[in-house]
Amino acid sequence: MARLKLVRYPNPTLRAPNFEVAFPLSRETRELVDQMMYSCKRFHGIGLAAPQIGYNLNLAVINLEEYQIPPFAILNPKIISSSSKSHTMEEGCLSIPGKFGSLKRPEKVTVKFITIEGKEMKLSVDGLLAVVFQHEIDHLGGVLICDKWDINTVHTLDESELARARKKRKKQTTR
Ligand SMILES: [Zn+2]
Repeated sequence: MARLKLVRYPNPTLRAPNFEVAFPLSRETRELVDQMMYSCKRFHGIGLAAPQIGYNLNLAVINLEEYQIPPFAILNPKIISSSSKSHTMEEGCLSIPGKFGSLKRPEKVTVKFITIEGKEMKLSVDGLLAVVFQHEIDHLGGVLICDKWDINTVHTLDESELARARKKRKKQTTR
């Protein structure tokens, strides 16, 4: 499978508008989703949005396999409601390598999206899944965690620290 290259901050692709995915899905888009699933795992990410690999399309993949949620794609996703209660979690981003910071987000969100099979879905999610959905949908609106994190909490992990954090995967999550 072709190796996709990660687009890193401050590349303008991360801020550019993303086009809605058209249905029925083209073979190219289907292949792109497969490649994104593969790349997300290879980069040890729990989510990957199309602009992060250079495609300004309104789609992302979520890979929470280690939490017993099989990887899935979200096409044209939208947040339709958010809880007023918020919580803070440490987040990282594959496009801002090695940096982590705390972000406050709504604790629960209701999202809608279209699956790779073309099925419309509406889900209410909380916990880590809610964070991943919000992080990816932010990407698709050109918003990055460095726009939102509490600057006083930002820290850098080097490669060996990252590998250790990946093993533990307690708080650090990379999307
Ligand atoms: Zn990200």
